[in-house]
Amino acid sequence: MEHHSGGSGTNKNKQMVEQLQRYGVISSKKVVEVMETIDRALFVPDGTPAYVDSPMAIGYNATISAPHMHATCIQLLEENLQPGMHALDVGSGTGYLTACFATMVGPQGRAIGVEHIPELVASSIKNIEKSAAASLLKGGSLSVHAGDGREGWPEHAPYDAIHVGAAAPEIPQPLIDQLKPGGRMVIPVGKIFQDLQVVDKNLDGSVSIRNKTAVRYVPLTSRDAQLKGY
Ligand code: SAH
Repeated sequence: MEHHSGGSGTNKNKQMVEQLQRYGVISSKKVVEVMETIDRALFVPDGTPAYVDSPMAIGYNATISAPHMHATCIQLLEENLQPGMHALDVGSGTGYLTACFATMVGPQGRAIGVEHIPELVASSIKNIEKSAAASLLKGGSLSVHAGDGREGWPEHAPYDAIHVGAAAPEIPQPLIDQLKPGGRMVIPVGKIFQDLQVVDKNLDGSVSIRNKTAVRYVPLTSRDAQLKGY
């Protein structure tokens, strides 16, 4: 157990969430709850500051997104992460957001992470096992798979919520296809200049897309390109 002036790890996680509320990033009680439940420190590599509002390297030319980006994406998807719903997290990396989604959709729901670096899949499972989402992993409502997330994960489609944690040059069609009518996808789109896009599938199957904010994510690409440094 750590005992610094800021308090224990769990307290510091709470302070991080409180700060995001003060800055106006989080306005939803549900987002506060889930981010307090899932301790971010369990998901960053040893020696990496867990509660600093910045992306951090996690190896394999990947990063864990900054807390304010995690908060923004959970909040955008909140209505589509209700108990019993299905969520897909593409480029699940550390597993942090997959654990948050699983906690929100609960044991009757389904949260799937897809990540193309098998080592990250393995370490994310270890991270989740240490977290408050461990029982969901054990119970089978949360799972993380190695694969190319541009293909989605058809087995548990259609999804109420899809989050993509890496920037796509354009929205992959399989992800649109796997979105449920009434479902929402949050995805960074672009190469150097990227927009976080909110893609809503209407009940008639058409999609409405709006740009939320300018962002900077690592690319959604092939494993080879990523390991070569893009
Ligand atoms: N959201 C995660 C990770 C963000 S970094 C977190 O916050 O921890 C983006 C992740 O997408 C990296 O782990 C990278 O390996 C993965 N990725 C990139 N392209 C991918 C693809 N085609 N299929 C699956 N995962 C991919």
